[in-house]
Amino acid sequence: MKVRKFLIALIAFFGVIGVVSTNQVDAASINSLAKKYQYSGVTYLYKMLKLEGIKYNEFPGVEYQNGKPEGIVVHETDDPGATAHDEAIYFNREWNKINAYVNAFVDSKQIIQMCSPNVGTWGAGQQANNRFIQIELCEESSRDAFAKSVNNEAIYIAKLLHRYDLKPDNACDDGDGTIWSHKAVSAFLGGTDHVDPDGY
Ligand SMILES: [Zn+2]
Repeated sequence: MKVRKFLIALIAFFGVIGVVSTNQVDAASINSLAKKYQYSGVTYLYKMLKLEGIKYNEFPGVEYQNGKPEGIVVHETDDPGATAHDEAIYFNREWNKINAYVNAFVDSKQIIQMCSPNVGTWGAGQQANNRFIQIELCEESSRDAFAKSVNNEAIYIAKLLHRYDLKPDNACDDGDGTIWSHKAVSAFLGGTDHVDPDGY
């Protein structure tokens, strides 16, 4: 099944990050742990804010150069202790002051979609914002929660690739493909100098 193949490739991608950054976690065990969890599903920002009585500060969206996304850029928040909910509230309020926005925040409990993936955001500089969907993985403090968040992110990304008829292809080694890290954008496309999510 197509979606299943996407998942395997994506979970392997995140698993590899795990190995590089800690030298303790091996990709295979994170993969098998991640696959045990259920997908948390998508929470839409505007609905969440309505329930909480917070004003939705709508992001205008960036038009994709090809009319649709060409892939995904994976980020990591570098904000220990901040949940997807915390990040969503903050970015909703501050995006026009900090000049940053992404399509979604993911943690072990949920995926908060900030705006439609049909539009680009301000996640990784001019060379990437009008080409790719931008997704931030939130920092978790336990191995279990990390695996849950990776599972959520992998399934969410697989669904997006499927929706836009994109084949999973890791761009991090050669600057060509549908699955990018922010670091790979910095290295191959420029316009930004961040190196996440590799450190995490
Ligand atoms: Zn980033």
